[in-house]
Amino acid sequence: MNHCFVDNSCITSVSFHCDQKCGQQNHIPPNIPIFDGHIHLNPIIPKIQSDLVSVRVASPIREFHFINNNHKPDEWLIPNPSSFLSHVHVYPTIGIHPKYFDSKSLYQNFDDLKNYLEISRNDQNLKNKIVAVGECGLDETSMATIDHQIFVLEKQIDLAIHYHLPIVLHCRGTHLYRKLFDCLRSRISDRNMRLHWHCINSNANLHIVDLFLNEFPNSYIGINGSITYETNTERSLMFKNWLVDRSPFLPDRLILETDYPYLPPRNLHGIYDPSCALLATATYLSKTIVDPSQTILSYICSSNKNIKLVYGL
Ligand SMILES: [Zn+2]
Ligand SMILES: [Zn+2]
Ligand SMILES: [Zn+2]
Repeated sequence: MNHCFVDNSCITSVSFHCDQKCGQQNHIPPNIPIFDGHIHLNPIIPKIQSDLVSVRVASPIREFHFINNNHKPDEWLIPNPSSFLSHVHVYPTIGIHPKYFDSKSLYQNFDDLKNYLEISRNDQNLKNKIVAVGECGLDETSMATIDHQIFVLEKQIDLAIHYHLPIVLHCRGTHLYRKLFDCLRSRISDRNMRLHWHCINSNANLHIVDLFLNEFPNSYIGINGSITYETNTERSLMFKNWLVDRSPFLPDRLILETDYPYLPPRNLHGIYDPSCALLATATYLSKTIVDPSQTILSYICSSNKNIKLVYGL
């Protein structure tokens, strides 16, 4: 039994067969995989052992897939997949987060990044392949200047183009959305490039998000637990309305992610188990949008499909 729960959703059904006598409305049928589009598993291996409760079962009923973002140059050790269970698949990305670089070692970092990507390209073992560059982008809480952050971002865009990999984008600071978008537009000539702009919530510049989705047909937005941090501010109301207005095409452009160990959803009670947290975010989304043609399960299935497309899985 798991040590967490979500309103109206059966958490037990994430990892066990449930006879549906639990009284919960929503179940995830067995064999439907769960993909988490953005997670950080590396720095906290001992913690993973305790938090990935739902995947650590004796007789697994589904496969779990995690896009693991290696975003700090001093932690660029791509994890050994064999340390995970056979029904758990971890796909590494590699990149430089705008908060985690040191200008003294920057050129060394670029060299290392290129080397990792080169090794991955030549590696015949699909399990070790790096699936994306990132997360990278702009962050108002970074110590580095915006110009310096843009320089680091542009280098990574160029590498992603060179290695035909998608980019994971991060942007903190509503006023920086325009800058990041302009950077993408000026740097990327192939509009079909695969892009995942992660952590879209009420702090996003939604006008820019619309432009981004229109400009790049293979772009996706990541929704995580931060959408549940509801306040009655104008921003959160605007975001809710935006989700409702965009709901007809949202399933085609949506990626469900956790950003674990950050951003636990508010409607997830108890332990922050990433696989259950995804269900919590999907539950919140379907409650907010209230579209009878969409369900928690349909959001999960759409997100699974989109994650496979963008990361080439
Ligand atoms: Zn149940
Ligand atoms: Zn981020
Ligand atoms: Zn992240």
